[in-house]
Amino acid sequence: MEVIFVFTLIILLLIIAGKYITLAVRDVTKRKQTERELIESEHRYRSLVEVSPKAILVFQENHIIFANQAAMKLFGAVNEQDLLGKSIFEFIHDEDRVELINNLTRLSKHENVAIREYRFHTLDGRTIFVDSVGTNIMFNGQPALMTVGSDVTEKKSLQEQIKMSEQRYKSLFDYHSDAVYSLDLAGRFTSANGVCETLSGYSPQELLDKNFSELIHEEDLAETIRIFHLTTQDGGSQQNNRFRLKRKNGDSIHLDTTTIPIIVDGQTVGMYGIAKDITEQIKNQEMIQHLAYHDYLTGLPNRNMLESLLANETIPIEKVAILFIDLDRFKIINDTLGHSMGDLLLKRVAERLKASLTEKDLIFRQGGDEFIVILTDSDRERAGAAANQILEALSTPYKLNTTEVYTSPSIGISLAQEDGETVATLIKHADFAMYQAKKAGKKTYRYYSCIKYEGDFDPLTMELELHKALKQKELFLHYQPKVNLQTGKMFGAEALLRWNHSKRGMVSPERFIPVAEESGLIIPIGEWVLSQACSQNKKWQENGLPPIVISVNLSARQFSHASIVATVEKILGETGLEPQYLELEITESMTFDIEHTISTLHELKKLGVLISIDDFGTGFSSLNYLKQFPVDTLKIDQSFVRELNHNHDVTIVKTIISMAHHLQLKVVAEGIETREQLVFLQQHDCDEGQGYFFSKPLSAEEFNKVWTRIERLVVKKKDA
Ligand code: C2E
Ligand code: MG
Ligand code: MG
Repeated sequence: MEVIFVFTLIILLLIIAGKYITLAVRDVTKRKQTERELIESEHRYRSLVEVSPKAILVFQENHIIFANQAAMKLFGAVNEQDLLGKSIFEFIHDEDRVELINNLTRLSKHENVAIREYRFHTLDGRTIFVDSVGTNIMFNGQPALMTVGSDVTEKKSLQEQIKMSEQRYKSLFDYHSDAVYSLDLAGRFTSANGVCETLSGYSPQELLDKNFSELIHEEDLAETIRIFHLTTQDGGSQQNNRFRLKRKNGDSIHLDTTTIPIIVDGQTVGMYGIAKDITEQIKNQEMIQHLAYHDYLTGLPNRNMLESLLANETIPIEKVAILFIDLDRFKIINDTLGHSMGDLLLKRVAERLKASLTEKDLIFRQGGDEFIVILTDSDRERAGAAANQILEALSTPYKLNTTEVYTSPSIGISLAQEDGETVATLIKHADFAMYQAKKAGKKTYRYYSCIKYEGDFDPLTMELELHKALKQKELFLHYQPKVNLQTGKMFGAEALLRWNHSKRGMVSPERFIPVAEESGLIIPIGEWVLSQACSQNKKWQENGLPPIVISVNLSARQFSHASIVATVEKILGETGLEPQYLELEITESMTFDIEHTISTLHELKKLGVLISIDDFGTGFSSLNYLKQFPVDTLKIDQSFVRELNHNHDVTIVKTIISMAHHLQLKVVAEGIETREQLVFLQQHDCDEGQGYFFSKPLSAEEFNKVWTRIERLVVKKKDA
């Protein structure tokens, strides 16, 4: 039993031992498997960690004890040793140091720390942004911290760039000095900056409810819609589009816009607009335009305007009549009373002109004292009536400040039906007719057509006949005495050319001299006059009459002719007249070329002859130039003397006399017809005079007879 028991026990023990052995063997196998698995797992994780594209670092007490390939690359390390053992704080950017310390402390306390971005300095000197997250781990049996991170420097800079460009765009939009807005394809506002409000008066919010077309001036709408479609349909930017914007308060302003299509994924979804307020600029342009086309003084349209109307053929010619108006003796008013008075006079003249015409008529200031009136619906009669009206309106004395000033117009008229095919021709012809009105004694008007057909002696025939006249001895001279107003003695005579045409009778020098001048015939004719006058004067002297000065008129062409000095010298030589008995009369219009005038006059003076300025006060020369001309005498134009009757030109005549005396010039008054005129001139120290009151121009024979009679006519100044 015992044996059985022992056996059984042994068996039992064996079974138990076997079981244990089996268990122990099993245990060892399992552990080995676990160990293997662990190693494998660690190996796997290590490999994973090693090749992970994320940078993985493990620290203990802030010192790096592990760094994977990506971490080495991130920090610019060549091998592990560059990092291992180093404190992470060697790499952290100063500004992120505190943050890193805090987060590492929290991690070590097992607190959660969200993903964070830190700046690190790398071993190769870069500064990088790293996104990282950390966790607690056991490493080599020791607690450690592991961080996983990636380099976000590039992403960050891209983000920065996007942010910057967004900010720039926003700034550009918000702070642009121009209005910036966008529209959708239907033309509704989708955005608008602050300037849009300044310009339109509508807030950006109010604009979002509107279509752009609601804001455009009706007249500009079609063009603006065209530009909108051009931008949004053809995809092209459109610049310098100008239109008027209706503001909220009802005003209009001018805008200049640039439109740019908004293209998203190749599709146009709307447009941007940039608009600038150019109202000021437009106003300035309009003002410049106005200044360019209007006379600053009178506000009337000027010559540029007339020329542009003519160039564009804006004026229908059918019923046009042109009045070419020139003020009589304006220059002298300007010179004696001053330019501001002259300006004032021109303003008043413009006002009176406007008042005496209708709205339909056009008035231009051609320049100086010339005005052009275009009557748009006129005929001969109406033009004559208008001219009469203007004559009356402009001849009424003007009260300028305290001075009473008198002027009158000379008017030339041309008519569309008769005088030209174009408005430009009509103006030229009216100008010519005005000149004839001047010649006819001023303060009157002349029709171009009448001049042309007057006695049907047209300029061409006249020129042919003049050629013959010289040969056929149809030309002769008349002499008009010139009297010393202080002594009553005759001191000279003016030689005046006459033409007794074989068939037509007497032709006025006013008519044939311009033709002779134009054709060049004045050169031989003028030479003949000079020679004739000098020899006649010499004859009187030889006949025992007291020596007098003979005055001969020179024409512009003669005066500018190169041989004038030689001709005068030759004639003096031929006739034997001493030069102090010859006076040459030139007019202001010949002194236009100042240099030439001065040199010719000096040469003539060297010969010893006298020089006078004829018709003084009607031409263009300025009193200032007179100082430079070596002249002896001024002849006051007869129009001033005539107006002495009306007391208008008293100031001007007095001024001319005193000014001439100041310049040591003698003054001769032309056209004295009455005793009153004579007395006035004597009282104001006018030196000499000439006119019908003493004698009309006479033939040489008649002249002998009046010699003594004239002297009796003059009451000497001291007796007057
Ligand atoms: P002018 O040289 O001013 O001559 C004066 C003109 O006034 C002359 O006209 C004369 O007859 C006129 N006259 C003189 N006293 C009076 C008066 O009291 N009342 C009025 N109403 N008229 C008066 P005329 O002879 O018809 O000559 C006209 C112009 O023709 C001259 O103006 C002169 O510019 C020009 N002329 C005359 N002869 C010649 C000449 O030989 N050569 C040139 N180049 N021109 C001449
Ligand atoms: Mg004369
Ligand atoms: Mg004269």
